[in-house]
Amino acid sequence: MGGTFDPIHHGHLVAASEVAQHFDLDEVVFVPTGEPYQKRSASPSEHRYLMTVVATASNPRFRVSRIDIDRSGPTYTIDTLRDVRELHPEAELFFITGADAFASIVEWKDQDELWQLAHFVAVTRPGHQLSMSGFPADRVSLLEIPALAISSTDCRARVRAGYPVWYLVPDGVVQYISKHDLYRRLTA
Ligand code: ATP
Ligand code: MG
Repeated sequence: MGGTFDPIHHGHLVAASEVAQHFDLDEVVFVPTGEPYQKRSASPSEHRYLMTVVATASNPRFRVSRIDIDRSGPTYTIDTLRDVRELHPEAELFFITGADAFASIVEWKDQDELWQLAHFVAVTRPGHQLSMSGFPADRVSLLEIPALAISSTDCRARVRAGYPVWYLVPDGVVQYISKHDLYRRLTA
């Protein structure tokens, strides 16, 4: 599951947990992006990486990978999948996205190779409609998950405005944000 995770929140964690359950996955690897090419500003990757580690540490099936943040330049999903494939040649790979991120899949480069590398699972997300037409049905699934109307953008805006993010993000992430004084001055 790729993402900016700026910060990671319970919407991400529920999506990962639901897909793992539905497809009987051995593990979910969270892959924080390097410099996100679709986003103008993001917190330093080490903060995003560490928040993801904090949020997933208690789940034995959740892991965090540095492959995207350790690769220089912008992150493209095709590169993530090629690197994961190289590390795990025998694995059956699934790429988890929300309905909104999946919609931009058509803009991703090398789309045909994407379908070869992984099975894509788009999960439902409040406020985002998704049509599966035009995508290869054997390589793409839509999974309905419990609706959590949480976004990182909203979490950042709440912190900046002095509103709590307790229960939107894991407790350790609330404490990490406070300890490092994140989001107080950044633009969303
Ligand atoms: P931002 O507002 O900064 O874009 P975000 O909340 O969308 O943050 P991302 O890091 O962009 O979080 O998302 C990573 C992946 O998780 C994407 O595929 C996104 O669609 C999915 N996702 C994020 N939040 C939810 C949610 N509440 N429900 C379902 N999927 C989600
Ligand atoms: Mg997003």
